[in-house]
Amino acid sequence: MIRFEGVNKWFGKLHVLRDVDGEVARGQVIVLCGRSGSGKSTLIRAVNRLEPIQKGRITVDGADVAATADINRLRSGIGFVFQQFNLFPHLSVLQNVTLAPRRLRGVPAREADALALDLLAKVGLAEKASAFPNQLSGGQRQRVAIARALAMRPPLMLFDEPTSALDPEMVGEVLSVMRSLADEGMTMMCVTHEMGFAEEVADEVWFMDAGSIIEKAPPKQFFGAPEHPRLQSFLKEIL
Ligand code: ATP
Ligand code: MG
Repeated sequence: MIRFEGVNKWFGKLHVLRDVDGEVARGQVIVLCGRSGSGKSTLIRAVNRLEPIQKGRITVDGADVAATADINRLRSGIGFVFQQFNLFPHLSVLQNVTLAPRRLRGVPAREADALALDLLAKVGLAEKASAFPNQLSGGQRQRVAIARALAMRPPLMLFDEPTSALDPEMVGEVLSVMRSLADEGMTMMCVTHEMGFAEEVADEVWFMDAGSIIEKAPPKQFFGAPEHPRLQSFLKEIL
């Protein structure tokens, strides 16, 4: 579904992605972890061309991201959830979720509402449809952001530290929504520091260090028998 081939990126002279190779197969959940500044966000943002790359290739479903003429179409097929939820404050929860399908796809209001209510039920927020973002907790807002991303029915979801801005007691509710998405077979690439989630949900965990992915392994092996000394010291620090 996503393929990275020799991906390199520089910000000016700073070489931030170095020869990244990898594949996210349909239905797989990949967790990407690594130290601050190692290039995780840059890599995940490159998938929908929020960051252009200078060398190598990224394909989504076979289509070269750099060569895609219709970037909006590519982006509308990729759900993206990040740390800050960026809900529209002047729109209700329901309106936040229906906006993209209505505007970008011309889905009729009734149909968009019905889908949005289904998605809100799925993230446990059916009763908040008419609330406004400032009436919600951080965890609830992030779940609305997930429902909003799902409203375009994307076959692929990207998450960049979706729980990092949340109070600890709200992390679990967001992770459990992500877990149920994974159980339904969604293809997901997730940057997260939640190693419990990685251990239970990921098919493969990737460790990024200074712009390179230096280890990729199923969670059991990644956490139980890490090979690279840099991964070993990273795990010692965080676990
Ligand atoms: P964190 O865990 O803190 O989110 P990260 O692994 O996501 O870190 P990136 O945000 O991808 O790291 O940043 C990788 C490197 O690129 C860092 O050195 C960062 O300072 C640099 N960088 C990121 N965005 C820009 C930019 N727009 N211009 C210049 N340098 C940037
Ligand atoms: Mg980041």
